[in-house]
Amino acid sequence: MDRPQPLTGEHLALDLLNTRPDGFDVFTDAASTAAWLATEADRLPQPPGPLSSADLGALRAVREIVLAVLVPAARGDKPPRQHLASLTRAQQDAPAYGQLGWDGTRVTVTDRRDGPYMTRLLATLAAAAGELLSGDALGKVRMCEGPDCTLMFIPANPRRRWCSPAVCGNRVRVARYYNRHKLPS
Ligand SMILES: [Zn+2]
Repeated sequence: MDRPQPLTGEHLALDLLNTRPDGFDVFTDAASTAAWLATEADRLPQPPGPLSSADLGALRAVREIVLAVLVPAARGDKPPRQHLASLTRAQQDAPAYGQLGWDGTRVTVTDRRDGPYMTRLLATLAAAAGELLSGDALGKVRMCEGPDCTLMFIPANPRRRWCSPAVCGNRVRVARYYNRHKLPS
């Protein structure tokens, strides 16, 4: 059976939170995690080799922290101070700089970070979380209306209700159809 797929292509911090589709945790499996990182190749550094179970644990931990800040912050409540501090520290551990280059016609600047791979990865995720949590986009985050679905997105179209019309949209339509055609018991 195919595993449930994480929701990707949203804000990077939401993509991080959306790695637990339908009861499956992407970060409990090295191959699923590598596949997720590859999907995010334009936004996240790619691992030099297979990730260890400690690396997966670190990804689960940063995800928990981001969620534990987002939930109160979205209501306008103060998030736990130690979580804010750890998202700051994660970025301090891998300082960011702009690497200058030349593409043949103009100067380019590429965002880089110093440090070992996992440190850079966690720092990039923490920076994305900081950007989402402190910006206007936070007020636009919505949770999928699908039953038991906790995937989150920022709707470009205000009528968007589901993580994916093909998954949750369809599930809701099928349930509605079934209820309408159910015989009275
Ligand atoms: Zn959904």
